[in-house]
Amino acid sequence: MTSRFNDIGETIDDFFQNNDKLLECIRCQRMIVWKHTSCTISCTHCGYILDIGRLRNAAPWRRNERICYAHRLWLRTPCCGEELWAFNKEHLLFLESYITSKLRSRKPNRNQSLASRLPRWMKDASNKNELIKAIERLKKKLL
Ligand SMILES: [Zn+2]
Repeated sequence: MTSRFNDIGETIDDFFQNNDKLLECIRCQRMIVWKHTSCTISCTHCGYILDIGRLRNAAPWRRNERICYAHRLWLRTPCCGEELWAFNKEHLLFLESYITSKLRSRKPNRNQSLASRLPRWMKDASNKNELIKAIERLKKKLL
């Protein structure tokens, strides 16, 4: 595995908009894969379906609550007194790459990039082992 992390300037919005999101079904609490091209959030386990085209005024993403159109994110776990979360596998692998890398390069003048906006506790080297364990827990939830 490479130990170099390259910040190519991805933003949190890139991960939200360009990839499928993993949500928790509000009816059966199992995993929903919300296709990023789809206007409906639907659960293959219980048949729950939500047409987001009818929710024009609703915020798609409420960061503080980790809620996406009333659905909790699937990838959430307690870590270092905080909560580690990701929208999807791509986002999780990005965080893993960042946290496990020894060398981090940053593109200048890209302050919006996710890497530059990660919270301090995620950048703290003393939290690294616990962060890696939390990422492993979330990876198991992908299976
Ligand atoms: Zn369901």
